[in-house]
Amino acid sequence: MVVLLMGPPGCGKGTQAKLLVEKHGFSHISTGDLIRAEAYSQSDRARDLRETIDQGNLVSDEIILDLVSEKLSNPQKAYLCDGFPRTLSQVYGLDTVLCNKSMRISAVVHFHIPDDLIIERLSGRLSCVQCKAIYNLLYNPPTNNLICDACGANLLQRSDDEPAAIRKRLTLHHEKSAPILAVYEGRGILHTISGAPSPEAVFGALEKILKNTH
Ligand code: AMP
Repeated sequence: MVVLLMGPPGCGKGTQAKLLVEKHGFSHISTGDLIRAEAYSQSDRARDLRETIDQGNLVSDEIILDLVSEKLSNPQKAYLCDGFPRTLSQVYGLDTVLCNKSMRISAVVHFHIPDDLIIERLSGRLSCVQCKAIYNLLYNPPTNNLICDACGANLLQRSDDEPAAIRKRLTLHHEKSAPILAVYEGRGILHTISGAPSPEAVFGALEKILKNTH
């Protein structure tokens, strides 16, 4: 089973994905995490990737599709794709990858959330350099300044969570997501929920959808 979580940066996809992994055993494929891992590795294209991310631009469809295809390795497993697809060519590229592996998309969940709430959330977001736990200076601050409660490592603000990069990512998101959502709506697998309520309430809505998905 493959479920896609879609929505603007800061809509809570990552938080919900973590809960789905813990409570329902999904394998989580976050293209943002995969790209960041490679951008900070010794790979030949690391420097280019860092530049792309820092400027709030999209990484090439080819790189993204290769990374995702490698991760979708077992048709028996339940996968959760987060932050992907972000272009129409990724949509059709994913169709081909899944068809070759005899897999299919069971549901696409779209998190709707107003832009001003996103900017407020992202500007306060901190993440742990080691265990990737996410905090927010407004809603969920760490107990010790800039130290992770879970593992004691340092907390950092992502360079692409600076206001200028956030605005660019939101503009790109709005431009690119409308036609993608239209494709999945046409296939009858799109579900839209609000990402504005508490994480627990959003998770309840998500579980209801997945209960009826196979
Ligand atoms: P995220 O953590 O999902 O906000 O992704 C961080 C950055 O990684 C994005 O701003 C892009 O530069 C890159 N990225 C992640 N997923 C994709 C994707 N599906 N297509 C293109 N670029 C992506």
